[in-house]
Amino acid sequence: MGPVLAGGGSGMTEGRCGGCGRVVEGGTEGCQARYEALLARDYEEPAFFAVHRMFVDTYSLQHPERYCRSGKSLAAHLVGLGMIVEDGLPAAVGSPALRNWLDGTRELDKPPLPEALGEITLGDVEAIDEAGAWRVAVQAWAVSTWQAYADLHPLARRWAAEAGGG
Ligand SMILES: [Zn+2]
Repeated sequence: MGPVLAGGGSGMTEGRCGGCGRVVEGGTEGCQARYEALLARDYEEPAFFAVHRMFVDTYSLQHPERYCRSGKSLAAHLVGLGMIVEDGLPAAVGSPALRNWLDGTRELDKPPLPEALGEITLGDVEAIDEAGAWRVAVQAWAVSTWQAYADLHPLARRWAAEAGGG
């Protein structure tokens, strides 16, 4: 086998995550592995689970190739995060109304995504092992990521209205 030349757009350049863009051992897959380990902690420790949904939506919006492939999956994370950071829905579980609205065969057009997905990444929060500090850091990361999607806020609000709020 010859060397695999870095192809533009493969998202697998060694060391750099193709989603959030941070440099991390293992690149995209390394970032994903860290995410999955932190998710597992959420389910073991309620103090971390307190911001579980906010964490999932934020990570997903920074890794859209994996988690926001369709309009519907984008809506789940974008509207869900907006409802948490702007409307004050519970950061642990988000909106049941949104999940109901997305259930079934609904189709949503996926808009172009922003080029930049926010300055804060998983790399800035992954080492935090104290739950209070984790919740504060995830909140800041969530707001930063939500702001990166500012161009899509009008669409997110329209979807949220259709979903029927909380
Ligand atoms: Zn990443």
